[in-house]
Amino acid sequence: MTNHASPRELLVGLIGAGIQRSASPRMHMEEARALGFPLRYELLDLDRIPGGPSALARVLEECEARGFSGVNVTFPCKQHVIPLLHSLSPEAAALNAVNTIVFADGRRVGYNTDSSGFAESFRRAMAGCAMDRVVLVGAGGAGAAVGYAALSLGTQRLDVHDTDLVRAESLAARLGDAWKHARVRTAYDLRAALQDATGVVHATPTGMAKLPGLPVPADLVRPPLWVAEVVYVPLATELVALARARGCRTLDGGGMAVFQAARAFELFTARTPDSERMLRRFDSELRLVANA
Ligand code: NAD
Repeated sequence: MTNHASPRELLVGLIGAGIQRSASPRMHMEEARALGFPLRYELLDLDRIPGGPSALARVLEECEARGFSGVNVTFPCKQHVIPLLHSLSPEAAALNAVNTIVFADGRRVGYNTDSSGFAESFRRAMAGCAMDRVVLVGAGGAGAAVGYAALSLGTQRLDVHDTDLVRAESLAARLGDAWKHARVRTAYDLRAALQDATGVVHATPTGMAKLPGLPVPADLVRPPLWVAEVVYVPLATELVALARARGCRTLDGGGMAVFQAARAFELFTARTPDSERMLRRFDSELRLVANA
């Protein structure tokens, strides 16, 4: 990394591994262009940087030295980056995961916009869905973010399921501590949990192009259960396609991807993006990429 930002150009980026197909550069740069200011979004791909993930601290220092406004971070850095920051937003602290860092006055502040991105997407498209009893499948980074969001949306009971029981138990304990109004527990038996659920949020990689399959028993996917998905490559995962075919209300992972980017854009630039425009653009062009 040698180029320095021109004085008026905002410089931001994404640090992570396997990020070459990320939709983030286009989402950020096209929105800045629409708002009339230059912004460059760089991919800082740890698969291509000497040292790989262990170079994280050095890459952050270089970004700051080059005048970046901030960076997004993704797998495998969302937790590892925390000791390198000065402070965290309440959401990032509760989730113990950061996907957006703002550099300002020599300080690094960490945020989690995955959570607010999912909440915004859900609010927009799933108004009126019963939040009484929700099952969360997947207790990794995305699961933590969407579980937190589901509770912020008024979920009364959240059953957390993961094939890795330790992960499920630890996330259930963390979310229960953060949201005292709700009952959050580990779902050891997914089928039993789904049988009386009002909705399911899916947050494992199952259904990605490289990992086809259904993460829940097919016979339990039927109205009035609603289904929210985080996977967005492809947008129409097997789960989303089945739920739609059965007449369930469904949310694909595209909205979360757009709204997490919109919030990060706002944090980086102090400008309010037109998130509806970002969504329309994602629908018209980036959906083609996400479905490729
Ligand atoms: P992760 O590896 O941190 O966590 C995945 C979890 O799922 C693990 O705990 C694993 O044990 C569990 N799991 C895997 N298969 C399972 C199964 N069949 N049943 C139950 N549990 C299972 O991964 P992550 O970072 O949380 O990402 C998960 C998915 O979310 C990825 O596909 C990623 O692309 C997507 N994602 C989408 C957005 C978005 O904006 N839409 C944002 C972040 C992540």
